Formats: sequence, C-alpha cells, structure tokens
Amino acid sequence: MSACHYINGDWVTGDGADLITVFDPSLGEPFAELQVASAAQVDQAVAAARQALPDWRNTRASERAVYLRGFAEQIELRRETLIALQMQNNGKPRHEAVVDVDDAVATFTYYADLAEGLADHQHRDVPLAVRGFSSRTRLEPVGVVGLIVPWNFPLVTSAWKLAPALAAGCTVVLKPSEITPLIEQTYGQIADALGLPAGVLNIIGGKAQTGAALSNHPGLDKLSFTGSNGVGSQVMNSAAAHCRPVTLELGGKSAIVVFDDCDLDQAVEWIVAGICWNAGQMCSATSRLLVQDHIADALMERLKAAFEKQRVGNPVTGEVDMGPLTSQAQWNKVADYFAIARAEGLHCLTGGDVLRDAGWFVCPTLYADVPLTSRLWTEEIFGPVLCVHRFDSEQEALALANDSRFGLVATVISADLQRAERVANALEVGHVWINSIQAVFVETSWGGIKGSGIGRELGPWGLSAYQSVKHVTRCLG
Ligand code: NAD
Repeated sequence: MSACHYINGDWVTGDGADLITVFDPSLGEPFAELQVASAAQVDQAVAAARQALPDWRNTRASERAVYLRGFAEQIELRRETLIALQMQNNGKPRHEAVVDVDDAVATFTYYADLAEGLADHQHRDVPLAVRGFSSRTRLEPVGVVGLIVPWNFPLVTSAWKLAPALAAGCTVVLKPSEITPLIEQTYGQIADALGLPAGVLNIIGGKAQTGAALSNHPGLDKLSFTGSNGVGSQVMNSAAAHCRPVTLELGGKSAIVVFDDCDLDQAVEWIVAGICWNAGQMCSATSRLLVQDHIADALMERLKAAFEKQRVGNPVTGEVDMGPLTSQAQWNKVADYFAIARAEGLHCLTGGDVLRDAGWFVCPTLYADVPLTSRLWTEEIFGPVLCVHRFDSEQEALALANDSRFGLVATVISADLQRAERVANALEVGHVWINSIQAVFVETSWGGIKGSGIGRELGPWGLSAYQSVKHVTRCLG
C-alpha cells in the first residue's frame, strides 16, 4: 500500500481500518487502492499545522506569493498527468479536464498577486471622529484551517481553498473526497518540490469518518467545506460545538430563464452547457429551465435534438462531449430519479435511462412541463437531467426561479439587456450569468444564499474568508 497521506512534510501510509478503492467510471473498474488515515493521523496532521503556524503566519506575504506562484508553475509542469488523471478518475472529457487545470493555475496566480499586495492592506489607519486616539486595523490569518472537498472538481475546488488560505498565512489540513483521492496528492508533491515548510500543508485521505474526525477536531480555527447539504449541516454542527467559523459551499437547483426574444440556437448551446458539462455533476447546474410560452415548443424541439447529438462515452478512448457519472453511487442516484420520474408520470422528451453496457453512463435527459411539486423539480439530482417549465410574464418567471430552498446561481437569456439586468438583480442567488455560459473567473465571487451555503470563495472575498480583523487603538495623550 503506497504512502499517500502528506503529514508534516512526510508521505505516510494510512493506518486506518478502511480501504479506499479508486475507480475508472468509464469501465466501472478499480485502478488503485489506499488505506485511509486513522483518527490518530488526523491528530498528527492538525498538530503539524499548529506547529507550523507561528513561522508561516509571520513570513512576509510577498514570500508566500513566491510559493503560490510556484504552485501555479508546478501545476503547469504536471498538466498532462493531471488531465489524464481527471479523465480516468472523474470521467471528464479532455477539454473539460483542460479547463480545470487552467482554473487551478489561474487561482494560484491570482492569490499570488493578492498576497503581493497584502502588505499594503495588512495595516490600515482608521480615521476617528474623536480626537486624541489613533486606530489601525491589522489583517491576520485565521489560523489552522480544515478544508473538506467533494469529487466533482477536485483540482479546482481544492485550489479555491488552498490558494487563499496559504496567501493569508493560514496552515492547512486538506481532506479530498474518497472518490477522487489521487488528484489532490499532486498538491503535496508540489509542496515537496517547492520546499514548502513542513506542516504548512497536510493532506489526509479518508471517507466520512476521516472527514468527521477533522471537522470535529478541537485544534482547528476554521473549517471550509464544499459538499452536500446533509454533510454540510453536520459540519456546521461541529463548528457550533466549538464556536468557530465555517464556510459552506453546498448544493443547488438553479434556474435558467429564457425569454422569447432570444436567439434560439444560442440559447440551446448555453442550456446544454449548463446541464451537460461534467455530466451535470455541478453544484451550479442550471437544472430548472424556465421558458417563455411563445418559444417553449420550438426550444424543446431543438433541445431534444441537441441532447441526442451529445457524444456520450469513455473520454480516455474516444472524443466525447460527455463522460460517465463519476461514481456508482451517483449513477444509482440518477437511476432512482429516472424511476421517480416514471412513477410521477413525467413527460420525457429524450433520455430517461442509464446506459447499461459498461461503466456508469446515463443519457442526457429532458423532461417537459414538469409540475412544480415534482421531486425532480425541487431536488438536486447531480446528473444531466433537465426539467422544463413554462412561464408567461417576467414576474412569473422570477417567482418560479426564486421558489427554491437553494440559492446558488442562475442564468438569464434575453435580448433585452435592461430586462435581463432587472431580473438578475431580483434573483435570490449568489451569482447570475446573463447571456453566457457558466464562466467563473477568479476575480469574481463564488457561493450561495439560502440552502446553498454560507460565505464566499474566490476574488478578494475568498482571501477575507481566511483572515480576521484586529484593531489596534492607541491613546495619543
Ligand atoms: P459529500 O457531502 O458526500 O462529501 C463531501 C466531502 O465531505 C467528502 O470529502 C466526504 O468524504 C466528506 N464527508 C462525508 N461525510 C462527512 C462527515 N460526516 N463529516 C465531515 N466530512 C464528511 O458531497 P459529494 O457527494 O462529495 O459532493 C456533491 C455535493 O457537493 C453536491 O451536493 C454539490 O452540489 C456539492 N458541491 C457544491 C459546490 C459549491 O461550490 N457550492 C461545489 C461542488 C460540489
């Protein structure tokens, strides 16, 4: 069994009781096995991060920027390996795996830039109305942070947490998903290559038990979690027990609102991308299509054709638009939703079934005129399953879009930009795209409202999530 946990600058073999089997979802076959980290190893990782904190937090931010730039360069050097691993373990088509590598590079580069500018912001004088006092703020790292991530964008989600945390001067214990545990090991290899001080970055592999051991650990100052609402709620409970901050990036059931003045072919392209990218395994999947009455039939006809044109297959052996679902559990979950749709009597225009040859493939699926009470309309499926509902007026579209317990993202498609901006302002979500694919830029914020989470990643907000404000006030008298 290989040494796969990175603790205090050393690679160690897990001594937990359980095994992780890593699969190629296109074949449904295993290709690696790891022994999970034990609770004692989680302790060691947190202790190493605590020990490394005083020196790391006191490095100059410009010095930390050099390491972050090194991460970006080293990811570039490993580009082909990372693309291949994501294709094999996630089932991502090559062009999607490339985007993820680009995103990780951009994230480390962006936070290197922010870290370089950090010295200017670390101390800021605050003018007071009252005479006789001076006052200044100092931005300090939160401390030792636990980072728990899912499997759908492993390289990227981890970069969105690691880069700002390290830039702020925090030390880190990262727990990747048990479905894709190999990808983040690259960050440990890079830390080795760069000579990052031991304990600044620790990576422990494991399942729910390991995640719980980390999120319950008394030695953390903050936890940042991306994943499902069920687990997010448990993570928040642990944070409450320790009275410490938590960032939560959770699920979604996002709307894409299409008005009747749009270019239909262009709309089809954006709608397909919003539900078929990563085989629909995106927290931000726009899985509820709201379409204005006049164009509903024509749009659905074109969408059906576009879904049926998607080349679904093994990304390792052929050129495909959509790969498999990443895990058998996810495949079973989507199959269950197809069964629910049949039981509810939904009108399926195309798809509605899994592919049974080999691997965990499903058909891109389109349901027309889905009732608002349907479980497929209200619940996150995490697969290429699009539900359509018609609306008449802008007001109705907004009410329907906002009628969700989630509030992550939305897309608005309309030739009337004033209307699109008005709708964007009224949508109850964290991010809106107007006439666009789901382009996420490192400078913009990421995160949701309502059941989609707490806090923001990316941009300067992502850095603030790992900083705390200290105020120093002095009597001048
Ligand atoms: P998950 O909640 O099952 O697992 C996420 C991580 O938590 C994994 O590393 C897992 O091992 C760990 N974990 C499991 N049980 C735990 C526990 N009791 N305590 C602590 N950690 C535990 O989620 P998933 O299936 O890996 O990911 C899919 C979910 O993630 C979807 O709901 C999706 O919407 C969400 N997601 C959200 C965003 C976002 O930015 N909002 C991004 C990606 C994914």
